[in-house]
Amino acid sequence: MKHDVKNIMIILSSPSGVGKTTLTKKIQQKFQNFKISVSHTTRKPRSNEIDGIDYHFISQKEFQKLINENKFYEHAKIFENYYGTLKKNVDNIILKNDIIFDIDWQGTKQLSKFKNLNLVKIYLIADNKEELKTRLIKRNQNTKEEIENRFSSFDQDIKHWNDYDFIVVNKNLEVCFKQIERIILNEKKSISSFHKFQ
Ligand code: 5GP
Repeated sequence: MKHDVKNIMIILSSPSGVGKTTLTKKIQQKFQNFKISVSHTTRKPRSNEIDGIDYHFISQKEFQKLINENKFYEHAKIFENYYGTLKKNVDNIILKNDIIFDIDWQGTKQLSKFKNLNLVKIYLIADNKEELKTRLIKRNQNTKEEIENRFSSFDQDIKHWNDYDFIVVNKNLEVCFKQIERIILNEKKSISSFHKFQ
């Protein structure tokens, strides 16, 4: 992967319903240089989702073909669906922009193997488990069974927190955003001063 050495890649992982989408959009508004990595998925689109913007929605057969052709930097099966990050998309963006990835711990592990990347791994958590369930129900985007699945994967996810550089609690959206903002600014600063002294 060729990339501008001053560009960074932020991974933002979290259980569903913690506010990751809102935070990702806020980061993009504040830091114009950030682009969101749009994943491919076999999941069916939700009513508010747009193909090519939220995800590239493809069939299982198409997804398998991309795996066989080694087109993904990372891919994972999550809640019976496949999700993946296409190499071509990332390689195009990172030449000029910083990137935000909204991927799970499996994808984070796979991306971490690329040691030349300026990867910053953030795990976002809800204030407490009950709050998380309330948000999932309120969001009204999942069936009862999906909510249970997503909620119970929380305990599974916790086991992978060690793989991340930062754990940020989203108790208050603005406070949480400020913390992420600080992480980004520090990272950008340390990269540019590193290159100044090279
Ligand atoms: P949702 O179906 O709610 O949009 O996403 C479910 C989970 O899939 C989320 O935890 C999200 O971070 C993860 N996800 C979305 N895209 C990708 C991807 O390209 N790779 C991986 N590994 N996970 C992804």
